[in-house]
Amino acid sequence: MGQQRIVDETDFVIIGTGAGGATAARVLAAAGHGVVMLEEGPQLRARARPRELLDSMAQSMRDFATQTTRGGHPIPLLQGKCVGGSTAINSGIIWRLPEDVRADWIERFGLAELLDAQGLEETFERLEDELNIHETDAEVRGGNNERMARGAAALGLPGRVIHRNTKDCRGAGRCLQGCPNDARQSMDVSYVPRAIADGARLHVRCRARKLLLEGGRAVGVVGDVLGDDGRRTVGSFEVRARLGVIVAAGAVHTPVLLARAGLRGLVGERFQAHPGCAVVGEFDEPIGMSFGATQGYEVPMRERRFKIEALSLPPETLAARLPGAGAEWQARLAKLDHYAQWCVPIRMEAMGTVRRGFGDVPVVKYGPTAQDLERAREAVILICRMMFAAGAREVYPGIARRPEVLRSVADLAALETGEVRPSDFHMMASHLFGTACAGADPQQSVVGPDLQSHAVGGLYVMDASVFPTNLGVNPQHSIMALVWRASERLANAARIPLRQASGARATLRA
Ligand SMILES: Cc1cc2nc3c(=O)[nH]c(=O)nc-3n(C[C@H](O)[C@H](O)[C@H](O)COP(=O)(O)OP(=O)(O)OC[C@H]3O[C@@H](n4cnc5c(N)ncnc54)[C@H](O)[C@@H]3O)c2cc1C
Ligand code: SF4
Repeated sequence: MGQQRIVDETDFVIIGTGAGGATAARVLAAAGHGVVMLEEGPQLRARARPRELLDSMAQSMRDFATQTTRGGHPIPLLQGKCVGGSTAINSGIIWRLPEDVRADWIERFGLAELLDAQGLEETFERLEDELNIHETDAEVRGGNNERMARGAAALGLPGRVIHRNTKDCRGAGRCLQGCPNDARQSMDVSYVPRAIADGARLHVRCRARKLLLEGGRAVGVVGDVLGDDGRRTVGSFEVRARLGVIVAAGAVHTPVLLARAGLRGLVGERFQAHPGCAVVGEFDEPIGMSFGATQGYEVPMRERRFKIEALSLPPETLAARLPGAGAEWQARLAKLDHYAQWCVPIRMEAMGTVRRGFGDVPVVKYGPTAQDLERAREAVILICRMMFAAGAREVYPGIARRPEVLRSVADLAALETGEVRPSDFHMMASHLFGTACAGADPQQSVVGPDLQSHAVGGLYVMDASVFPTNLGVNPQHSIMALVWRASERLANAARIPLRQASGARATLRA
């Protein structure tokens, strides 16, 4: 069979259909501009979503979540690779950009125009209206979330019901596999179809490889068409863009595309994340984790730089979290309906790098600092306390070189002392930022406040890469809001000739 060849031309080409890319497509297409979206992963349909987490990870997660950090103990990086990007497999948790973070980005990075209070508020309200964002309904909270509310109340912690972007959620508890009911208003269900209805085109299984630059401007993208297995190259594509190229491939892949285009400076620097771990507890009464919002209750501890969240797991994954072996493990397995799991993303101070490795595979170097590890310890201990306060009979803290099973608050003493190492925690990270950071000063950033590259005209970055710092809260709402505001300005500016790249002090490979 011959090789496929896709050739297309438009006003704006967008690489990636996640929180950033789909929002840009939604705004630009509605403004009447031609838009082509390129997505490396497949388009998944609700009914074809597998029930098992491992099957779904193979279908919709980049490299089956085996992409990890290097340079210390490896931390798996969870990223969606399908239409909707990571939003297609997330829990729909919604948080506005915290005020202290907004103030910091204005003061240190000169983002006042992008983040003006009133404009941002209006954008959040618009997103909340369009994506049906509201508090998780009482009927679908489920035992895991309810039990955590009990633990938080018993300790007087500031717990709250999670706000999510759902419509008619049936509490299937399968958000991480992709909602089987299309209830979660992820980008594959909301802004990608909306952009298509407004005239945008979507090419799936198209992996952008190289940005086309002419006369110092970005004018298009070339890449590979992938087969149904997502690996084999079965053809090539070239999409030319008259007005702009928007890179929205996520904080790990965007810097690789920028580096390949010759951008230097802070490209791939300042990689930040909210890595996290989880604790399981066994209760006398059934918890029934298989029903209810996957994540429906949380305890934000912003001043401590972590946030505790209920997180339901499917039975086969939960079973792997149970301690013991042989008859002991089997006895625990028989009580599978009696477990609760709560997790904690941590706003780590660590910064890492993403470099372009062999074959353009990203190499992520990152490791928690000693302070970050102490925060992880503090957070795990607090979750254990909450579990006991909520009535747990046994708690499994999941820290290596410590007891696997705790039976009372007194047992927590074993977690409180002694050194903690990165390898003691089973961490994962799904909130990733910073590798093409935005700012007014080209020396301190990769893109300007309009999210256009300082070095190359017509080249924009519109995803989590532009965040100058991590946030301490779930990021998708803030990504959408920043991209919405920048795209709106771009949609208007594109009616007049776009500015040429300042090129000022930014570095571009000769
Ligand atoms: C399991 C999980 C749970 C999460 N839960 C929440 C939550 O509840 N609330 C919240 O706020 N946040 C959550 N997040 C984080 C949130 O989903 C991400 O921060 C957000 O989606 C990032 O947006 P983005 O546009 O930067 O990248 P993504 O949404 O990851 O989109 C990037 C897209 O680019 C595509 N792509 C990459 N390289 C190429 C290429 N070369 N060519 C073509 N396409 C390419 C990818 O396939 C992907 O579709 C979660 C993330 C994960 C993984
Ligand atoms: S809890 Fe179930 S129905 Fe509700 S959004 Fe998640 S997967 Fe969909």
